[in-house]
Amino acid sequence: MTFVESINSPPERTTLRDLFRDTGRFIFAVEIETTRGLAMEEPASRMARLANDLADFPDVDVLGLTDNPGGNPSNRPEALGLQLHERGQEVIVNVSCKDYNRNGIESRLWALGSYGFDALLALTGDYPTAGYAGQAKPVFDIDSVGLLEIIRRLNEGYPPPDRSVGARMPTMRTSFFPGATVSPFKVQESEYLPQLFKLEYKIRTGAQWAITQIGYDSRKLDELQRYMALKQMNIPLIGSVYLLSAPAARFFHRWGIPGINASAELVELANKQASSEDHGTAFFHEFAAKQIAILKGLGYRGVYLSGRPSLSRIETIINIEKSFGEDDWKDFARELQYPLPEEFYYFEQDPDTGLASSQINREYLASKSGFARTRKRLIQSPAFTIGKLTHDVFFDAKAPGRKLGELVYKGLEKSPRPVQRIAHFAEQASKVPVYGCQDCGDCSLPDIAYLCPESQCAKNQRNGPCGGTKDVQCEVLDKDCIWSRAYDRLKAIGQEEHMLDRPVIFKNGALQGTSAWGNTFRERDHHSANSEGQKSR
Ligand code: SF4
Repeated sequence: MTFVESINSPPERTTLRDLFRDTGRFIFAVEIETTRGLAMEEPASRMARLANDLADFPDVDVLGLTDNPGGNPSNRPEALGLQLHERGQEVIVNVSCKDYNRNGIESRLWALGSYGFDALLALTGDYPTAGYAGQAKPVFDIDSVGLLEIIRRLNEGYPPPDRSVGARMPTMRTSFFPGATVSPFKVQESEYLPQLFKLEYKIRTGAQWAITQIGYDSRKLDELQRYMALKQMNIPLIGSVYLLSAPAARFFHRWGIPGINASAELVELANKQASSEDHGTAFFHEFAAKQIAILKGLGYRGVYLSGRPSLSRIETIINIEKSFGEDDWKDFARELQYPLPEEFYYFEQDPDTGLASSQINREYLASKSGFARTRKRLIQSPAFTIGKLTHDVFFDAKAPGRKLGELVYKGLEKSPRPVQRIAHFAEQASKVPVYGCQDCGDCSLPDIAYLCPESQCAKNQRNGPCGGTKDVQCEVLDKDCIWSRAYDRLKAIGQEEHMLDRPVIFKNGALQGTSAWGNTFRERDHHSANSEGQKSR
């Protein structure tokens, strides 16, 4: 079969969508890390060989193909994915936003759809760490939520057919089956709950399934499922299991991979096991098997195994897991809990199971009381107070001063250039010192509790936090995540739970260097009811 023939008539395969339809089935997915170099040469071919071996291995259902993992350049997942499709193997293609702007991403999505890929994992992506002759400049034009929105629109038929050519143009639709990631393994309330809000946001935007971040706390895994049920987030959930080793545990503990944490207790255990005769191999196999058993017991729909496991190790883990008794997972779930110090939980612990109960954390509930919020309001940041007041008086669509602002900026547009420049200078003079404004012209201050994503977020995240924080600290900058800070600011006024209840935000690059105030009053920015993001809802 030629390459073109194989794309046009790919062999039958059981898709991820099909696998989820079989509700009694526990899906086994393995991550294949793409590498630098040609797909047919070492070391990429090692991964290709493993992928091909796994395609013949009946216990593995799906292979996940990474997209420039760890911020490093590598061969595109499609190169290997096409070979696997030819063999009838279902793959999940990771698509991240770090290396392409929205046009590059849309172009890639058209190519992925043309090649017949449908299961896509939408990611914001790791901050680039390497590149030819120096570190690559990150893009982050859009984020995972923006990516899901574009995928949803392509599935609905976007762009609409061009009828102007006279012919009856058919509407082109992709048929992607997009998934999202969620990170429940966060320490503080202000970094954990926004992750859960963001999952809801992703589901509203089109995510049809989700995969957890790697973590080592069964209680958090249970809690995530309970939270999703409580908020009626009815999508299948897959749990990540990383084949641990002592070096990997130490690496995670040092925050070697943003967003993945290993507690000191887990590192100590891993080090102790590594000093045994087999260097802990048997222990780590059993550890992974127990994690899989826990996911099954908790009702997860599958596992996503990573950590570059060989075929023989995967076989060993599966066989160990099969040897467990039906209820063994309950003991494992109690045993495999390695939270970080002071870790926040949304639900109280069930003393019988060691997992989550149905009672929401009482201390958390008390912190939302009127008295607690009033105390927080008293120490609220002046930047927030001034920003919100100004917004509520002038910029909000229903603000009393809105009409005045619209009139002023309508008049300014007809004024001579020097007058416009003076007005823009006055705007900048007030925003640069207070917010670190970068003059993007499409202001998101009201979206992020008056914190500027351009100057204070390394990934310019306008639709919620990425998953890379550790104890609220940004994975790139030496400062707290703006989304955790926004959560705290909004909690003081009782609006934190709605921080992401809104249409997806796409920054309009054409507005860079223009007056953000003028763009709001003249309805040119993303706040306008006529913007693409607002219209698509
Ligand atoms: S206009 Fe853009 S750069 Fe300036 S404060 Fe607002 S979001 Fe930040």
